Amino acid sequence: MSQLRVAVVGAGPSGFYACEELLKSGDHEVKVDLYDALPAPHGLVRYGVAPDHQKIKNVTAVFEKIMRDPRLSFFGNVAVGAAELEWMRQVYHGVLLTVGAQTDRRLGVAGEDLPGSYSATDFVAWYNGHPDYVGHKFLLDQPRVAVVGVGNVAIDVARILLSGHERLSKTDIADHALEQLRNCAVREVHILARRGPAQAAFTNPELRELLEMEDLSFEIRPDELSLDEHSRAALEAEPDKLVSKRLELLGQAQIRPGGQKKLVLRFLVSPLEISGQDRVQGLKLGQNRLNEKLQATSTGQQEGLAIGTIFRSIGYKGQPLGELPFDNGKGIISNQLGRVEGHPGVYVAGWIKRGPSGVIGTNKPCAKESVQSLLSDAREGKLQEPAGQPQQHLAPGWVDFDGWKRLDEFEVAQGQPLGRPRVKVVQREAMLARARDSAEEVAAR
Ligand code: NAP
Repeated sequence: MSQLRVAVVGAGPSGFYACEELLKSGDHEVKVDLYDALPAPHGLVRYGVAPDHQKIKNVTAVFEKIMRDPRLSFFGNVAVGAAELEWMRQVYHGVLLTVGAQTDRRLGVAGEDLPGSYSATDFVAWYNGHPDYVGHKFLLDQPRVAVVGVGNVAIDVARILLSGHERLSKTDIADHALEQLRNCAVREVHILARRGPAQAAFTNPELRELLEMEDLSFEIRPDELSLDEHSRAALEAEPDKLVSKRLELLGQAQIRPGGQKKLVLRFLVSPLEISGQDRVQGLKLGQNRLNEKLQATSTGQQEGLAIGTIFRSIGYKGQPLGELPFDNGKGIISNQLGRVEGHPGVYVAGWIKRGPSGVIGTNKPCAKESVQSLLSDAREGKLQEPAGQPQQHLAPGWVDFDGWKRLDEFEVAQGQPLGRPRVKVVQREAMLARARDSAEEVAAR
């Protein structure tokens, strides 16, 4: 093989780390084509990371360096489904899927589809200006909101709902979200955890940031904060500094009165039913205790909570792709060290490989492992020689690196006079138009 040709599908963190690893390979001359369904790259860094977390977004400087490698070509605005995967397998030695987890888990309780009940991941995509979510509507006209789940997405959603306009107006939050949040009636967010404080999935910096928000009061019930016997035993057997720090932070925050807005953090409660006639009006909550496996089990006690909106924030979930084997329980494409089972030449990395866990950096070793599998298969002559070129199969209208840079620079320029990192272009057609415009045309406006 004179040149190893690889398609990486999905230009989020895993995709970039996979490209970086491929381009480092000393074995072969490598040519990498990086595809994304959207006209803009960066995946969850652009459409998932909260707009008030700009420092995390600085990782895009690393991504840009990777994109500038002459051996890499970007093909934005190319959705890859079963048909595209078919031709990709012909024109590349290997196809590495880094498509993430594109949907969310369901609670499976009555009332889940009432207006006012939403997936937190949809809300995140909406406030971050994802073009497929621009038209979504969220009822934020009642003072009390529930967020189910205690991962970092739940914390992000609570923080965005409780942030004032002033704070958000300095970020790259989508303009439509900035406007709706300015006028929203939300004053009280109840975060609901089915297990105890020792099992919460959020991380301490995210908790601390929430607890340090101005003009916000907290309510955490002392009885829900005190550890049950099983959690105590587990921590004694295996001390965990991060959990101890979390408990300390929660203990300090327990009751802070006085803010205009309020955060209520509940533990050991599960939604049993979302009630309401033609929209969400309330929540039936069941109280839980933990068993020796630290799982939530019902105590049989119930309580009601009047709310106008509920966000389910109980995890992302991957989606199947064509004929590739799919583990529905885990929401991943079945694989061994990134090799898709029964489909030589097809690989996965990131959330579609291991499930929706970890921070951005977690994707680096994950992508490295998958690329090592691909490179080792190439060395052993297990990959089929490509026939044809991708351009024979691609419909016109993809966005290349220069097109993305035109869109990127336009957004940054729009943000500059407002003291914002960028003002996102959110409609797909408008993004494509900005990417198409030549630099001269943009300057002439
Ligand atoms: P997550 O961390 O997996 O948290 C999911 C939460 O949902 C857990 O508290 C889980 O509780 C709960 N849950 C699951 N099923 C439930 C059910 N049926 N009823 C009630 N609760 C249920 O997921 P995530 O918040 O979506 O975050 C995904 C990943 O992105 C994580 O690795 C996260 O750290 C990362 N992320 C990081 C940041 C950041 O660094 N700032 C921001 C956003 C996301 P159990 O533990 O009981 O299952």
